[in-house]
Amino acid sequence: MCDQPNPNGGACGFCDACVQSSLFSHPDVHFAFPISGGDGEGASSKTSDQYLPEFRTYLKTNPFPMFKNWISSISAQKKVLQIGVKESSAVLNKLSLKSHSGKYKILVLWLPEKLSSAAANKLLKTIEEPNEKTVLLLITHDLSGVLPTIISRCLVFSIPPLGGKQVERWLNKERNVAPDTARVLSKMSCGDPGLALDYLENRENLKVFAEAFVSSMKISFKKDFQGLHLWVEELGSWGRGQTQEYFTFSSTVISEIAKYKSMGSGEVIFDWFPEISFKTEGFSKLLKYSYLPMFMSVFDEGKIDIGRNLNPKIVLFDAGIRMMEIF
Ligand SMILES: [Zn+2]
Repeated sequence: MCDQPNPNGGACGFCDACVQSSLFSHPDVHFAFPISGGDGEGASSKTSDQYLPEFRTYLKTNPFPMFKNWISSISAQKKVLQIGVKESSAVLNKLSLKSHSGKYKILVLWLPEKLSSAAANKLLKTIEEPNEKTVLLLITHDLSGVLPTIISRCLVFSIPPLGGKQVERWLNKERNVAPDTARVLSKMSCGDPGLALDYLENRENLKVFAEAFVSSMKISFKKDFQGLHLWVEELGSWGRGQTQEYFTFSSTVISEIAKYKSMGSGEVIFDWFPEISFKTEGFSKLLKYSYLPMFMSVFDEGKIDIGRNLNPKIVLFDAGIRMMEIF
């Protein structure tokens, strides 16, 4: 989009087009993303345009956007967010207009896995054969959730996480995070900067996970059924996304503790929560290597079952019983 690109083709960063792009307000760059109220065709149904100011603010404060943070930034925790058929009509309309600059038109469609099937079908022809000088960028966080008819019309590029060391440096430099904390966060996020940032900004949410993990291990080790019921009641009131995230968190913690056991040292999440009573070293002695695959399958299956809309309390209770059997 740059008006005066460098000899190597890179953007200058200073021209009007670059400044507009950096503010997400270039007239030839269009955004479509999941919103609440985007599920119908009627006049009351909304499109991304109505949420554009919030979306721009969100992107400016968070360079590594995650869906759940977008949901909370528009206070839509209890709503279903999707990209509806009215959005597809709006997109087709925008792409049919002449570009302002006479150069390329770009559509950034964030999270095609949230397209309703009617909305997706409406876009198929354009995705397959966009107009001249038109680029469609579909950014997914879950390729398996994108309709195969869309994937087959796209060139798929996989963008790997930045990696642990880079995330550590980024947190340290851009967010002034102390080196020890940056190390824990980069490990816990497996080198995913969006997740590391999310953990950093929502320490309290992560603390809830860390506490639930410690409880679950104590309950399982002691085969404490009453404790299990209380644990299920508490976690059963969480949202599905949060519960799935908790299972992912638990897998990461268990593997970090296993690494600690094999190396005799290392950072684990509990270093960041001295207020939680948990002795990593003591627990690592109880954790036999043969337990690891069993824990992993409990967490993986729990996450899948929650995604399949099973009753969270039943899934959690089942996970608790299976963990008791491991020790
Ligand atoms: Zn420029």
